[in-house]
Amino acid sequence: LQRLNRIRDAITTIPDFPKPGIYFKDIFPILGNPEVFSELNEIIYEASKSMPQVECVVGLESRGFLFGPILAQKLKVPFVPIRKKGKLPGEVVSQTFELEYGTDCFEIQRGSVTKGQKVLIIDDLLATGGTMKAASDLVTKVGADVVLCLCIIELLGLKGAKSLDKPFKSLIAFD
Ligand code: IMP
Repeated sequence: LQRLNRIRDAITTIPDFPKPGIYFKDIFPILGNPEVFSELNEIIYEASKSMPQVECVVGLESRGFLFGPILAQKLKVPFVPIRKKGKLPGEVVSQTFELEYGTDCFEIQRGSVTKGQKVLIIDDLLATGGTMKAASDLVTKVGADVVLCLCIIELLGLKGAKSLDKPFKSLIAFD
C-alpha cells in the first residue's frame, strides 16, 4: 500500500483540462521519476501474474502504450496495439463506440491476436468505461479471450467498472 501511495502522490490533477469542469489526472509525472515509474511497472506485473496465464498484452492508444510493452516484456508475451481509426496499416478489424459527444472507432490489426488467446488489456485510466468496453468488445470480436482489463487509475464516481463485462482491476482509485 505504501508503494502505491508513492505512485498516487506522483499523479497530479489539472483543473479545467481539456475543458472547463474536468479534473484531469496527469500520469506523466510518474514517468518523470524513474524510481516511481519502475515501481509502478513492477506492481502492474505483480497484478498481472496473479491471473490465469496471460498470453498477450493489448494496449490502448495512447497512454496504454506507455505501460503495455513493458508489461508484455516482463511477462514474455507479445504486445499488440489498439489504435484510433486509420492509424494502423494493413487489414484491420474495427469497433465503433459512443462518446459523450458523438462516436469514435478503435482498430486492431487482423491476426495480431489469435482465437482463444488469453488477453490482458491495459490503459492508464478508467472514467466512464466506454473506452475499455469498446476495446474489450473488439478483442472479443476477433475471437480472443479477455482475461483482465487493467487500469492504473479508476475514477470511482463515474462507475465505469459497471459497464464492463470482463474481469477488471485498477491499482489506484480516486473519488
Ligand atoms: P472513458 O472511456 O470515459 O472510461 O475514458 C477513459 C479514456 O479517456 C482513457 O483512454 C483515458 O486515457 C482517457 N481519460 C479520461 N479522463 C482522463 C484523465 O483524467 N486523465 C487521463 N486520461 C483520461
